[in-house]
Order: sequence, then structure tokens, then C-alpha cells
Amino acid sequence: MTAADREAQVIDQVSKQLFIGGQWRDAGSGATFKVEDPATGAVLCEVADAGTDDAFAALDAASAAQPSWAKHPPRERGEILRRAYELLIERQDDLGLLMTLEMGKPLAEAKGEIAYAAEFFRWFAEEAVRIEGGFSISPNGQARFLIMRQPVGPTMLITPWNFPMAMGTRKIGPAVAAGCTMVLKPAHQTPLCALALADILREAGLPDGVLSVLPTTDPGAVTEPLLRDGRIRKVSFTGSTAVGRTLLEQSAGQVLRTSMELGGNAPFLVFDDADLDAAVDGAMQAKMRNIGEACTAANRMYVHAGVAEEFARRLSERMGALRIGRGTEDGVQVGPLIDDRARRKVQGLVDDAVGRGAKVLIGGEPGDGAGYFYRPTVLADVPQSSELSHTEIFGPVAPIIPFETEEEAIAEANDTEFGLVSYVFTQNLGRAFRVSEALETGMVGLNQGIVSNPAAPFGGVKHSGLGREGGRVGIEEFLETKYVGIGGV
Ligand code: NAD
Repeated sequence: MTAADREAQVIDQVSKQLFIGGQWRDAGSGATFKVEDPATGAVLCEVADAGTDDAFAALDAASAAQPSWAKHPPRERGEILRRAYELLIERQDDLGLLMTLEMGKPLAEAKGEIAYAAEFFRWFAEEAVRIEGGFSISPNGQARFLIMRQPVGPTMLITPWNFPMAMGTRKIGPAVAAGCTMVLKPAHQTPLCALALADILREAGLPDGVLSVLPTTDPGAVTEPLLRDGRIRKVSFTGSTAVGRTLLEQSAGQVLRTSMELGGNAPFLVFDDADLDAAVDGAMQAKMRNIGEACTAANRMYVHAGVAEEFARRLSERMGALRIGRGTEDGVQVGPLIDDRARRKVQGLVDDAVGRGAKVLIGGEPGDGAGYFYRPTVLADVPQSSELSHTEIFGPVAPIIPFETEEEAIAEANDTEFGLVSYVFTQNLGRAFRVSEALETGMVGLNQGIVSNPAAPFGGVKHSGLGREGGRVGIEEFLETKYVGIGGV
């Protein structure tokens, strides 16, 4: 089979319809939209484009399925997730290729995301049977307190394009474990991963109506009426802070529970006592994972002035050696950005920094070809006043900002409204604790460039969001606490 035949086969295997109440159907309006390969601009296929009526059909299904789903034995809910985990791993190659085709990331990274995504199902399969309440005696001894944990109810899940599979499983895993029904609206750039995931969950035994999936080019038409309806009880969103704020406003009317995984502006701190090899390795991961299109991407590299030049030299050498191309090709390490708008934004931020005195060590311009490629870029002596110090770059650009003192590095790192993750490289134990405590972020990578792990609580503070996903607390977001006061004892 030729490579093109295999790509066509992988696309063919996925349903292009909406998934509502356990059925595949066209959009009520009959509308469809095109899904593009960002590496070539070619149209991969057309997918049904959901509208408000389809959203209400999905909500009807979620709401009808909720009572029986809440009573479904926890072990069985866990086993559905476990089977889905196994199917994801079994189909890792095909699903990885599917992801590369619609999102652009290199195949090895796409397969890595399938494994990462699957881990959320494995983790929450195990959590489904560990939902615990409590029992206690009132302080005056005259009553008893019974604490129950119950599913929140029907949920609206909204996911971005940058991790199209893992951002889905990170929400679906705990929702299934807790016994919540779901309406999922994936990003329009990457509907195929979400549709493939729905099919896997159906095959794994998820009852009809528990999950509906609604690709759409008009997200507001699908999400807003549901958030205002009263039957949806929670919204879990991953995406930009601007859209998160809109959803919080829309959620206020029905006083919905909300989980918000929003934008980042991660500082990456390298002290002069760091292991420089480890710091450069960490910088490669924190910057180049997902072509820089990650909320956890190192956005500002604060490097002690004594080692800044050497760090910049080594990082430029490593980033400059990366191979750019279509993610399906062997050995490619840097795929295209998601679209031309994203690429223009990256170029604008680079131009602004250069205009303010930053030096381009490598890159600084788009790559060749029809896709939305941007060259890995290292900028030295970037002034803190640059726009990119305050804006999520979402591309393969590493700005290096030298600092003199620990206090200065912490102050500059915290000088942002975002607070998702920070990275610290130092071999001094006292400094490691001091700086980790002082950084205003929900997560810290200490001498490591990746923090994402299904077994750990992922999330941010400040404008980076509300709530945590993964870890022991991940399921809490989908559970209510009910207290029964027992008298007459
Ligand atoms: P986005 O906010 O534009 O879109 C995210 C999702 O929201 C998509 O499904 C989109 O269709 C939907 N959406 C857009 N407008 C909407 C509206 N008015 N009503 C309802 N839904 C709407 O973000 P994006 O460009 O797809 O993703 C990149 C952003 O996501 C970055 O800011 C990144 O930091 C963030 N992100 C955060 C995390 C995290 O865990 N904190 C993880 C991945 C991505």
C-alpha cells in the first residue's frame, strides 16, 4: 500500500457524521465543513457541521441517559474506560497518523499523544471504584453525618485542537468514572480524533446517550444555548483565556460548575548553578514539544547572565538541527503550525521583539512549502517589554532574557496575568524550594521540561484557569458532595 493509500484509509475509517445518542447522523441542516492538512493546505475530508438543533438533540440524549448512567456500577464504568484504553493502544499507529494528518504534529509525537491520552482512561478506570464519601458523629453527639459523592450531572466538554485526543480523554475519563453524561464539542480544526474516540468508547461499551460529539464551525451556536438551558450542570473547557472568560459569563446564569484550563505564558528559569546540559534538554522539551503549540510551552527563558550566552549557543545548535517537514515523513521533528493566522501571529511577535532590540540567533522566518511552517527560532537579549513576554507565542520561538539576581528572575517570571506552569533549573536545594514556592503558577517543572502526567493534578492559577485535571483530584471536578444529617439516633 502506498503512503497516500494508507492516509486515505485512515481517514476513511472515521465517521464524518455527528455522534448523538449513540447514533451517527448528518447535521440537521445538512451542512458540512472541510478538514485541512496544515502541512499542505489540502482538504482531507468533509465533516458534518452541527447547529443549535443538533446540540439540543445531544442534550436531550445526555439528560435522558443521566439517571441510569449515575446508577451504572462503578466497576463497569471503569471497565469501559479500561477497554477504551486498550483499543487506543491497539490502534495507536492509525490514530497517530490520523492526528498528524489533521493537526500537523510529527508522527512520533502524535503516537506519543495517543499513549498519553490512553493513560487518562487507564488512570480513571482505576479511580471509578475509589469514589468515597464519609461518616461522622456531630460534635454534640446527637446527630450523624453521612457524606455522599454523586455525579454532577450532564456536562459540556469543549476541547482545543493542539492535543486533540488527550484533551478529550482528560475530560471524558473522569466524567465516565464519576457517572456524568457528556456533550463534547471538539475544535473544528481537529474533529476526526474526537469522532474516532467516540467510536472507540461506543465499541468499549459506553451506553447510548452518555457521550455525544458535535463538530461545528459555529461553536457559540452549539455551546451557549446548552449552557443557558439548565439541564447541563457543568462545563469543562480547555482553550484560550478569552473564550474561557466568555464561557464563565455564560455559565453564571445557571450557576454552573466550571473547570477552565486556559492559556499559559510559562517562564523557564535557568540559574548559574544549573546543570546546563539538563537545562538545554529541558528547554528542548518545554519549547519544541508540539511545535511550541502547547499551553505548557516555555514562553520566556530567563537565564542568568553568567550562562546566558552559552545556553543560547547550545539551544540554537539543537533547535537549528531539527528537521522541518510534513509530520508523516520519516525523521521530521517540526511540523507546520495549525493555520496561517497562527503563523502570522508568531511572526508579528518576533518582529516586535527584534524591533525592540532582540537578536535573532536562528530562524525568525516562515519555512518553505505550502504548509504553515515556521522555522525554529532563538532570540537573544529579548527586552522584558517585548510583546511576547506578555503573550502566548504558540510556536517554535525561544526568547532568552538574561537576569542578574534570583529576586529579579522571580519578579519578571511572575510579571504576567497567566499562571499555568513554570520551569526551574538549579542544583541548589534551598533555591529550588524557594523559587518553586515563589512562582505564581499551578505547576512547576523542577529540573525537567515536561509536567503533564495523567496521575498528577494539571492546572493553573490567575488567568490560566480554575480546577485541576488528572491525578486524584481530577474526578472531584465531576462529583458533588451531598451531606445527609441523621437525627434521632
Ligand atoms: P480557543 O479558545 O480558540 O478554542 C478552544 C475551543 O473553544 C475550541 O473547541 C473552539 O471551537 C471553542 N470555542 C471558540 N470560541 C468559542 C465560543 N465563543 N463558545 C464556545 N466555544 C468556543 O483556543 P485554541 O486556539 O483552540 O487552543 C489554544 C489555546 O488553548 C491556547 O491558549 C492554549 O494555551 C490553550 N490550552 C490550554 C490547555 C490547558 O490545559 N491549560 C491545554 C491546551 C491548550
